[in-house]
Amino acid sequence: MDPTSQTIQQQFQRYYLEPARRITGPQSMANREFGFLLFKEKFMVRHRSFRTNEQLLGAIRDLVPAHVYFSTARYKEPTATMEEKGWEGADLVFDIDADHLDTECKPTHDNWKCKGCGNVGRGSAPKICPSCKNDRFEEQTWLCEKCLRQAKEETEKLLDIVISDFGVDPSNLRIFFSGHRGYHVHVNSKDLSGLDEEERKEIVDYVLGLGLETKLQGLNQTSSGGVTTVEGPMMGEPGWRGRIVTGIYDLLSEGVENLQLGSAQTQAFKEWNREALFTKPFWNSVRGAGLGTWQALALKAVQKKSSRIDTVVTTDIHRLIRLPGTLNGHTGLLAVEVQSERLDDFDPFTESTVFAGSMKVHVKEAPSFRLGTVHLGPFHDESVTLPAAAAMLLLCKRRAEPAT
Ligand SMILES: [Zn+2]
Ligand SMILES: [Zn+2]
Repeated sequence: MDPTSQTIQQQFQRYYLEPARRITGPQSMANREFGFLLFKEKFMVRHRSFRTNEQLLGAIRDLVPAHVYFSTARYKEPTATMEEKGWEGADLVFDIDADHLDTECKPTHDNWKCKGCGNVGRGSAPKICPSCKNDRFEEQTWLCEKCLRQAKEETEKLLDIVISDFGVDPSNLRIFFSGHRGYHVHVNSKDLSGLDEEERKEIVDYVLGLGLETKLQGLNQTSSGGVTTVEGPMMGEPGWRGRIVTGIYDLLSEGVENLQLGSAQTQAFKEWNREALFTKPFWNSVRGAGLGTWQALALKAVQKKSSRIDTVVTTDIHRLIRLPGTLNGHTGLLAVEVQSERLDDFDPFTESTVFAGSMKVHVKEAPSFRLGTVHLGPFHDESVTLPAAAAMLLLCKRRAEPAT
Protein backbone atom coordinates (compact mmCIF):
# COMPACT_ATOMS: atom_id res chain seq x y z
CA MET A 1 0.00 0.00 0.00
CA ASP A 2 1.28 3.50 -0.79
CA PRO A 3 2.15 5.85 2.13
CA THR A 4 -0.86 8.09 1.43
CA SER A 5 -3.32 5.19 1.68
CA GLN A 6 -1.54 3.97 4.81
CA THR A 7 -1.92 7.34 6.50
CA ILE A 8 -5.58 7.61 5.52
CA GLN A 9 -6.29 4.11 6.76
CA GLN A 10 -4.58 4.79 10.10
CA GLN A 11 -6.80 7.82 10.61
CA PHE A 12 -9.91 5.88 9.59
CA GLN A 13 -8.93 3.11 12.00
CA ARG A 14 -8.52 5.53 14.88
CA TYR A 15 -11.95 6.97 14.08
CA TYR A 16 -13.72 3.60 13.93
CA LEU A 17 -11.94 2.26 17.03
CA GLU A 18 -13.13 5.04 19.33
CA PRO A 19 -14.94 3.27 22.19
CA ALA A 20 -18.06 5.43 21.87
CA ARG A 21 -18.36 4.78 18.11
CA ARG A 22 -21.77 3.49 16.98
CA ILE A 23 -22.94 2.46 13.52
CA THR A 24 -26.60 2.02 12.71
CA GLY A 25 -27.41 -0.43 9.95
CA PRO A 26 -30.36 -0.02 7.59
CA GLN A 27 -33.87 -1.37 8.17
CA SER A 28 -34.12 -5.14 7.63
CA MET A 29 -30.39 -5.26 8.17
CA ALA A 30 -30.12 -9.07 8.30
CA ASN A 31 -31.54 -9.28 4.76
CA ARG A 32 -29.09 -6.84 3.21
CA GLU A 33 -25.83 -7.52 1.47
CA PHE A 34 -22.87 -5.47 2.72
CA GLY A 35 -19.77 -4.62 0.74
CA PHE A 36 -16.44 -3.09 1.73
CA LEU A 37 -13.96 -1.51 -0.63
CA LEU A 38 -10.54 -1.98 0.90
CA PHE A 39 -7.61 0.40 0.64
CA LYS A 40 -5.35 -2.49 -0.26
CA GLU A 41 -5.44 -3.06 -4.04
CA LYS A 42 -8.95 -1.56 -4.07
CA PHE A 43 -10.26 -5.03 -3.34
CA MET A 44 -14.03 -5.39 -2.86
CA VAL A 45 -15.28 -7.65 -0.08
CA ARG A 46 -18.89 -8.49 -0.95
CA HIS A 47 -21.80 -10.75 -0.01
CA ARG A 48 -21.41 -10.16 3.73
CA SER A 49 -24.36 -9.97 6.09
CA PHE A 50 -24.82 -8.86 9.71
CA ARG A 51 -27.56 -9.35 12.26
CA THR A 52 -26.60 -6.56 14.64
CA ASN A 53 -25.03 -3.10 14.58
CA GLU A 54 -22.25 -4.44 16.82
CA GLN A 55 -21.33 -7.16 14.31
CA LEU A 56 -21.32 -4.61 11.52
CA LEU A 57 -19.07 -2.24 13.47
CA GLY A 58 -16.83 -5.19 14.34
CA ALA A 59 -16.31 -5.95 10.64
CA ILE A 60 -15.59 -2.29 9.86
CA ARG A 61 -13.03 -2.21 12.69
CA ASP A 62 -11.38 -5.39 11.36
CA LEU A 63 -11.25 -4.35 7.72
CA VAL A 64 -10.94 -0.54 8.06
CA PRO A 65 -12.24 -0.10 4.51
CA ALA A 66 -12.13 3.02 2.33
CA HIS A 67 -15.86 2.70 1.60
CA VAL A 68 -18.76 0.84 3.24
CA TYR A 69 -21.82 -0.12 1.21
CA PHE A 70 -25.10 -1.95 1.72
CA SER A 71 -27.61 -3.27 -0.79
CA THR A 72 -30.74 -1.27 -1.51
CA ALA A 73 -32.28 -4.73 -1.99
CA ARG A 74 -33.41 -7.19 0.65
CA TYR A 75 -32.55 -10.84 0.06
CA LYS A 76 -33.56 -14.18 1.53
CA GLU A 77 -29.88 -15.22 1.53
CA PRO A 78 -27.75 -12.06 1.36
CA THR A 79 -24.47 -14.01 1.54
CA ALA A 80 -25.30 -16.28 -1.41
CA THR A 81 -24.17 -15.64 -5.00
CA MET A 82 -26.23 -13.08 -6.94
CA GLU A 83 -28.23 -15.83 -8.68
CA GLU A 84 -29.13 -17.55 -5.40
CA LYS A 85 -29.73 -14.57 -3.13
CA GLY A 86 -33.53 -14.54 -3.54
CA TRP A 87 -34.49 -10.90 -4.20
CA GLU A 88 -37.30 -9.71 -1.93
CA GLY A 89 -37.61 -6.07 -2.99
CA ALA A 90 -35.47 -2.94 -2.94
CA ASP A 91 -35.68 0.58 -1.54
CA LEU A 92 -36.30 3.24 -4.15
CA VAL A 93 -33.07 5.21 -4.15
CA PHE A 94 -32.06 8.46 -5.82
CA ASP A 95 -28.54 9.76 -6.23
CA ILE A 96 -27.79 13.37 -7.05
CA ASP A 97 -24.14 13.91 -7.75
CA ALA A 98 -22.23 16.94 -9.00
CA ASP A 99 -20.73 14.57 -11.59
CA HIS A 100 -24.04 14.81 -13.45
CA LEU A 101 -24.59 18.53 -13.09
CA ASP A 102 -23.51 21.23 -15.51
CA THR A 103 -22.20 23.81 -13.10
CA GLU A 104 -20.31 26.81 -14.45
CA CYS A 105 -17.52 26.38 -11.90
CA LYS A 106 -16.48 22.91 -13.09
CA PRO A 107 -13.77 24.09 -15.50
CA THR A 108 -12.14 25.92 -12.57
CA HIS A 109 -11.81 22.82 -10.38
CA ASP A 110 -12.21 19.64 -12.48
CA ASN A 111 -10.00 18.29 -15.23
CA TRP A 112 -9.53 15.14 -17.29
CA LYS A 113 -6.87 13.26 -19.17
CA CYS A 114 -7.60 10.79 -21.98
CA LYS A 115 -6.22 7.32 -21.23
CA GLY A 116 -5.82 6.70 -24.96
CA CYS A 117 -3.82 9.67 -26.23
CA GLY A 118 -3.05 11.80 -23.17
CA ASN A 119 -5.21 14.68 -24.38
CA VAL A 120 -6.23 16.92 -21.44
CA GLY A 121 -9.07 19.33 -20.76
CA ARG A 122 -10.84 21.25 -18.01
CA GLY A 123 -14.31 20.56 -16.59
CA SER A 124 -16.14 17.21 -16.85
CA ALA A 125 -14.66 14.64 -19.23
CA PRO A 126 -16.40 14.44 -22.62
CA LYS A 127 -18.22 11.23 -23.61
CA ILE A 128 -15.48 10.44 -26.12
CA CYS A 129 -12.06 12.01 -26.57
CA PRO A 130 -12.21 14.67 -29.31
CA SER A 131 -8.82 13.64 -30.71
CA CYS A 132 -8.72 9.82 -30.46
CA LYS A 133 -12.39 8.85 -29.82
CA ASN A 134 -11.37 6.84 -26.73
CA ASP A 135 -13.99 6.79 -23.95
CA ARG A 136 -11.75 6.24 -20.92
CA PHE A 137 -10.41 9.11 -18.86
CA GLU A 138 -8.56 9.87 -15.67
CA GLU A 139 -10.60 12.52 -13.92
CA GLN A 140 -9.64 14.87 -11.14
CA THR A 141 -12.64 16.41 -9.42
CA TRP A 142 -13.11 18.73 -6.49
CA LEU A 143 -16.04 19.17 -4.16
CA CYS A 144 -16.98 22.81 -4.32
CA GLU A 145 -19.58 24.90 -2.54
CA LYS A 146 -21.36 25.93 -5.74
CA CYS A 147 -21.61 22.36 -7.03
CA LEU A 148 -22.92 21.12 -3.69
CA ARG A 149 -25.43 23.95 -3.47
CA GLN A 150 -26.69 23.00 -6.92
CA ALA A 151 -26.89 19.34 -5.84
CA LYS A 152 -28.96 20.44 -2.86
CA GLU A 153 -31.35 22.37 -5.11
CA GLU A 154 -31.76 19.29 -7.29
CA THR A 155 -32.51 17.30 -4.11
CA GLU A 156 -35.18 19.80 -3.08
CA LYS A 157 -36.86 19.52 -6.49
CA LEU A 158 -36.71 15.74 -6.23
CA LEU A 159 -38.32 15.75 -2.78
CA ASP A 160 -41.17 17.89 -4.10
CA ILE A 161 -41.84 15.41 -6.91
CA VAL A 162 -41.54 12.33 -4.69
CA ILE A 163 -43.84 13.71 -2.00
CA SER A 164 -46.39 15.67 -4.08
CA ASP A 165 -46.59 13.52 -7.20
CA PHE A 166 -45.76 10.01 -5.98
CA GLY A 167 -47.52 10.49 -2.64
CA VAL A 168 -44.62 9.18 -0.59
CA ASP A 169 -45.11 9.86 3.11
CA PRO A 170 -42.22 12.10 4.25
CA SER A 171 -41.70 9.76 7.21
CA ASN A 172 -40.60 7.07 4.71
CA LEU A 173 -37.95 9.35 3.22
CA ARG A 174 -34.37 9.71 4.37
CA ILE A 175 -31.85 12.16 2.98
CA PHE A 176 -28.09 11.67 3.19
CA PHE A 177 -25.06 13.72 2.29
CA SER A 178 -22.74 11.27 0.54
CA GLY A 179 -19.56 12.68 2.04
CA HIS A 180 -18.41 13.72 -1.41
CA ARG A 181 -20.21 15.50 -4.23
CA GLY A 182 -23.88 14.86 -3.61
CA TYR A 183 -26.96 13.67 -1.81
CA HIS A 184 -28.86 10.40 -1.64
CA VAL A 185 -32.58 10.04 -1.07
CA HIS A 186 -33.85 6.65 0.15
CA VAL A 187 -37.54 5.77 0.00
CA ASN A 188 -38.47 2.87 2.21
CA SER A 189 -42.02 1.93 1.29
CA LYS A 190 -43.75 -1.43 0.95
CA ASP A 191 -45.76 -0.11 -2.01
CA LEU A 192 -42.64 0.72 -4.00
CA SER A 193 -40.12 -1.93 -2.97
CA GLY A 194 -41.43 -4.50 -5.46
CA LEU A 195 -40.93 -2.27 -8.52
CA ASP A 196 -38.78 -3.84 -11.23
CA GLU A 197 -36.15 -2.10 -13.35
CA GLU A 198 -38.59 -1.09 -16.10
CA GLU A 199 -40.95 0.46 -13.58
CA ARG A 200 -38.11 2.33 -11.91
CA LYS A 201 -37.05 3.60 -15.34
CA GLU A 202 -40.52 5.16 -15.67
CA ILE A 203 -39.98 6.93 -12.35
CA VAL A 204 -36.59 8.20 -13.56
CA ASP A 205 -38.14 9.54 -16.78
CA TYR A 206 -40.87 11.27 -14.79
CA VAL A 207 -38.40 12.94 -12.42
CA LEU A 208 -36.23 14.06 -15.36
CA GLY A 209 -39.29 15.19 -17.34
CA LEU A 210 -37.99 12.98 -20.14
CA GLY A 211 -40.31 12.50 -23.09
CA LEU A 212 -42.87 14.80 -21.52
CA GLU A 213 -45.40 16.03 -24.09
CA THR A 214 -46.90 19.40 -23.31
CA LYS A 215 -50.11 18.44 -25.11
CA LEU A 216 -50.67 15.63 -22.61
CA GLN A 217 -50.21 18.20 -19.84
CA GLY A 218 -53.18 20.11 -21.24
CA LEU A 219 -51.33 22.67 -23.38
CA ASN A 220 -53.25 22.82 -26.63
CA GLN A 221 -55.25 25.08 -28.92
CA THR A 222 -58.76 25.09 -30.30
CA SER A 223 -60.23 26.98 -33.24
CA SER A 224 -63.76 28.25 -33.56
CA GLY A 225 -65.13 30.80 -36.00
CA GLY A 226 -61.62 31.60 -37.23
CA VAL A 227 -60.41 32.43 -33.71
CA THR A 228 -57.62 30.30 -32.25
CA THR A 229 -57.54 29.92 -28.50
CA VAL A 230 -54.67 28.48 -26.48
CA GLU A 231 -55.57 26.49 -23.41
CA GLY A 232 -53.28 25.03 -20.81
CA PRO A 233 -52.78 24.00 -17.20
CA MET A 234 -53.14 26.30 -14.20
CA MET A 235 -50.91 27.07 -11.25
CA GLY A 236 -51.52 24.64 -8.41
CA GLU A 237 -52.65 21.72 -10.56
CA PRO A 238 -51.04 18.45 -9.47
CA GLY A 239 -47.99 16.95 -11.15
CA TRP A 240 -46.16 18.40 -14.10
CA ARG A 241 -49.20 20.53 -15.07
CA GLY A 242 -48.86 22.90 -12.15
CA ARG A 243 -45.09 22.56 -12.16
CA ILE A 244 -44.92 23.80 -15.76
CA VAL A 245 -46.77 26.98 -14.79
CA THR A 246 -44.54 27.53 -11.74
CA GLY A 247 -41.53 26.90 -13.96
CA ILE A 248 -42.68 29.50 -16.49
CA TYR A 249 -43.18 31.97 -13.64
CA ASP A 250 -39.63 31.30 -12.40
CA LEU A 251 -38.19 31.69 -15.90
CA LEU A 252 -39.95 35.02 -16.43
CA SER A 253 -38.80 36.20 -12.99
CA GLU A 254 -35.19 35.45 -13.88
CA GLY A 255 -35.33 37.59 -17.01
CA VAL A 256 -37.19 37.46 -20.28
CA GLU A 257 -33.98 38.21 -22.21
CA ASN A 258 -32.55 34.74 -21.52
CA LEU A 259 -35.49 32.93 -23.10
CA GLN A 260 -34.39 33.31 -26.72
CA LEU A 261 -37.76 34.62 -27.89
CA GLY A 262 -38.24 36.91 -30.87
CA SER A 263 -37.78 40.61 -30.17
CA ALA A 264 -41.50 41.44 -30.38
CA GLN A 265 -42.37 38.58 -28.03
CA THR A 266 -39.58 39.50 -25.63
CA GLN A 267 -41.04 42.99 -25.47
CA ALA A 268 -44.59 41.65 -25.01
CA PHE A 269 -43.52 39.36 -22.16
CA LYS A 270 -41.62 42.21 -20.53
CA GLU A 271 -44.75 44.36 -20.52
CA TRP A 272 -46.92 41.51 -19.33
CA ASN A 273 -47.69 41.14 -15.62
CA ARG A 274 -46.54 37.61 -14.81
CA GLU A 275 -48.66 37.59 -11.65
CA ALA A 276 -51.48 36.68 -14.06
CA LEU A 277 -50.02 33.16 -13.92
CA PHE A 278 -51.43 32.87 -10.40
CA THR A 279 -54.93 34.09 -10.99
CA LYS A 280 -56.67 33.46 -14.28
CA PRO A 281 -56.40 31.63 -17.58
CA PHE A 282 -53.53 33.57 -19.08
CA TRP A 283 -52.59 31.57 -22.15
CA ASN A 284 -54.14 34.13 -24.52
CA SER A 285 -53.13 37.28 -22.72
CA VAL A 286 -49.63 37.85 -24.15
CA ARG A 287 -49.63 39.62 -27.49
CA GLY A 288 -47.94 37.57 -30.22
CA ALA A 289 -47.48 34.46 -28.05
CA GLY A 290 -49.26 31.49 -29.59
CA LEU A 291 -49.14 27.78 -28.88
CA GLY A 292 -45.61 27.40 -30.28
CA THR A 293 -44.17 30.02 -27.94
CA TRP A 294 -45.93 28.58 -24.91
CA GLN A 295 -44.77 25.08 -25.83
CA ALA A 296 -41.18 26.27 -26.03
CA LEU A 297 -41.52 28.02 -22.67
CA ALA A 298 -43.19 24.96 -21.14
CA LEU A 299 -40.30 22.73 -22.23
CA LYS A 300 -37.79 25.16 -20.72
CA ALA A 301 -39.89 25.12 -17.55
CA VAL A 302 -39.70 21.31 -17.49
CA GLN A 303 -35.91 21.52 -17.80
CA LYS A 304 -35.82 23.94 -14.92
CA LYS A 305 -38.13 21.99 -12.61
CA SER A 306 -36.83 18.49 -13.32
CA SER A 307 -34.30 16.98 -10.95
CA ARG A 308 -30.96 15.83 -12.41
CA ILE A 309 -30.78 12.41 -10.79
CA ASP A 310 -28.33 9.65 -11.72
CA THR A 311 -30.48 7.33 -13.83
CA VAL A 312 -28.38 4.19 -13.22
CA VAL A 313 -28.60 4.25 -9.43
CA THR A 314 -32.40 4.40 -9.36
CA THR A 315 -32.98 1.66 -11.93
CA ASP A 316 -30.43 -0.81 -10.53
CA ILE A 317 -32.34 -3.10 -8.15
CA HIS A 318 -29.16 -4.81 -6.89
CA ARG A 319 -27.29 -1.61 -6.13
CA LEU A 320 -24.78 -1.28 -3.32
CA ILE A 321 -25.00 2.18 -1.81
CA ARG A 322 -22.96 4.03 0.80
CA LEU A 323 -23.81 3.34 4.43
CA PRO A 324 -24.57 6.52 6.40
CA GLY A 325 -22.36 7.00 9.43
CA THR A 326 -19.28 5.74 7.59
CA LEU A 327 -16.31 7.61 6.18
CA ASN A 328 -16.05 8.37 2.49
CA GLY A 329 -12.61 7.32 1.25
CA HIS A 330 -12.73 9.94 -1.50
CA THR A 331 -12.73 12.77 1.05
CA GLY A 332 -12.41 11.60 4.65
CA LEU A 333 -15.80 13.20 5.25
CA LEU A 334 -18.63 11.37 6.98
CA ALA A 335 -21.73 10.29 5.07
CA VAL A 336 -24.45 11.77 7.27
CA GLU A 337 -28.21 11.87 7.46
CA VAL A 338 -29.81 15.28 6.92
CA GLN A 339 -33.24 15.95 8.39
CA SER A 340 -35.47 17.22 5.58
CA GLU A 341 -36.50 20.36 7.48
CA ARG A 342 -32.80 21.17 7.91
CA LEU A 343 -31.73 20.49 4.32
CA ASP A 344 -31.69 24.17 3.43
CA ASP A 345 -29.36 25.00 6.34
CA PHE A 346 -27.19 21.90 6.12
CA ASP A 347 -23.53 22.75 5.57
CA PRO A 348 -21.61 19.72 4.27
CA PHE A 349 -18.31 21.49 4.88
CA THR A 350 -19.02 21.78 8.60
CA GLU A 351 -21.34 18.95 9.55
CA SER A 352 -19.49 16.04 8.00
CA THR A 353 -15.95 16.70 9.23
CA VAL A 354 -14.67 14.34 11.91
CA PHE A 355 -10.89 14.57 12.19
CA ALA A 356 -9.58 16.87 14.93
CA GLY A 357 -6.08 18.17 15.53
CA SER A 358 -3.59 19.02 12.82
CA MET A 359 -1.50 17.15 10.25
CA LYS A 360 1.47 18.04 8.11
CA VAL A 361 1.16 17.27 4.40
CA HIS A 362 2.92 18.13 1.18
CA VAL A 363 0.31 19.54 -1.20
CA LYS A 364 0.92 19.12 -4.91
CA GLU A 365 -1.91 21.30 -6.15
CA ALA A 366 -5.20 22.35 -4.59
CA PRO A 367 -7.74 25.11 -5.15
CA SER A 368 -8.85 27.33 -2.27
CA PHE A 369 -11.59 25.80 -0.16
CA ARG A 370 -13.41 26.11 3.14
CA LEU A 371 -13.88 23.60 5.94
CA GLY A 372 -15.99 24.79 8.85
CA THR A 373 -15.12 28.46 9.27
CA VAL A 374 -11.54 28.04 8.06
CA HIS A 375 -10.56 29.12 4.54
CA LEU A 376 -7.55 27.33 3.09
CA GLY A 377 -5.41 27.36 -0.02
CA PRO A 378 -4.83 27.57 -2.86
CA PHE A 379 -1.71 25.43 -2.50
CA HIS A 380 1.01 24.70 -4.99
CA ASP A 381 3.85 22.27 -4.28
CA GLU A 382 4.30 23.17 -0.61
CA SER A 383 4.52 21.54 2.82
CA VAL A 384 1.91 22.85 5.25
CA THR A 385 0.44 22.00 8.64
CA LEU A 386 -3.34 21.97 8.31
CA PRO A 387 -6.40 21.15 10.39
CA ALA A 388 -6.57 17.34 10.21
CA ALA A 389 -9.92 17.32 8.36
CA ALA A 390 -8.46 19.52 5.62
CA ALA A 391 -5.26 17.48 5.41
CA MET A 392 -7.31 14.28 5.16
CA LEU A 393 -9.44 15.78 2.40
CA LEU A 394 -6.32 16.62 0.39
CA LEU A 395 -4.80 13.18 1.04
CA CYS A 396 -8.01 11.40 0.05
CA LYS A 397 -8.33 13.54 -3.09
CA ARG A 398 -4.71 12.63 -3.91
CA ARG A 399 -3.77 16.29 -3.94
CA ALA A 400 -1.29 15.82 -1.11
CA GLU A 401 1.09 13.29 0.43
CA PRO A 402 2.00 12.74 4.08
CA ALA A 403 4.96 14.85 5.23
CA THR A 404 7.09 14.56 8.34
ZN1 LIG B 1 -7.69 10.65 -26.62
ZN1 LIG C 1 -18.15 23.60 -8.58
